[in-house]
Amino acid sequence: LLRLRGVRKAFGASLVLDDVDLDVAEHSVVVLIGSSGSGKSTLLRCANLLEVVDDGVIELAGRDITDPRVDANAVRAQIGMVFQSFNLFPHLRVLDNVTLAPRLVHGVPRAQARDRAMAMLERVGLAGKARAFPDELSGGQQQRVAIARALACGPRLMLLDEVTSALDPELVGEVLDLLGELKNDGLTMVVATHEMGFARTVADEVCFLHNGRVHERGTPGQVLGAPEQPRTQEFLRRIT
Ligand code: ATP
Ligand code: MG
Repeated sequence: LLRLRGVRKAFGASLVLDDVDLDVAEHSVVVLIGSSGSGKSTLLRCANLLEVVDDGVIELAGRDITDPRVDANAVRAQIGMVFQSFNLFPHLRVLDNVTLAPRLVHGVPRAQARDRAMAMLERVGLAGKARAFPDELSGGQQQRVAIARALACGPRLMLLDEVTSALDPELVGEVLDLLGELKNDGLTMVVATHEMGFARTVADEVCFLHNGRVHERGTPGQVLGAPEQPRTQEFLRRIT
């Protein structure tokens, strides 16, 4: 579904993505791990055309989306992105947060957008909070609303960037459990995370990034259980 070949991205003199290849099959979950500054967020942002790559090709469903003639908004409409900070609209009720993009960006009629939003809130276990405002919810609930909001546009692909990093430890589990359920529903996801337990149980493939390069990739058992590269070994030693 998503394929990167030889992707390079520099900010000024610093090369942040260096010849990155990545393949994300439909219905699979690829987890990106690596230290702070290794390029995980930049990779996700490039895949969503929030950053322009300097070199290389990114294909979504077989189409080169780095082609300057491609309509970036049409590409982003097929991709859901969720960040560390939930970025909910504080003045809108939960339901309106979820219906906003389908109505304004995709032109979905109000009643249909509401039905779909309620189904998504149901999916993330928050149908009962549809009338609440974001600040009446816990951090974990707010992040689940942000995930419902991304799902409401019916994305083919979800990009999740450290979606549990801003949460209190006791709230991390509910969000990770939800991602596991979404995988079981068949959703295709690329997830940058520091949660190795999640990577171990949910990832089909783990990619270890270091200084913008993919140093090691494989099943969680390979990369986390029996890493071959010294840098991967060092990273795992440091965080465990
Ligand atoms: P973290 O785990 O801290 O989120 P990361 O792996 O997501 O780290 P990135 O955010 O992709 O890392 O950053 C990779 C490098 O690119 C860093 O050195 C960062 O300072 C640099 N960088 C990222 N965005 C920009 C930008 N807009 N302008 C300049 N440099 C940037
Ligand atoms: Mg990051």
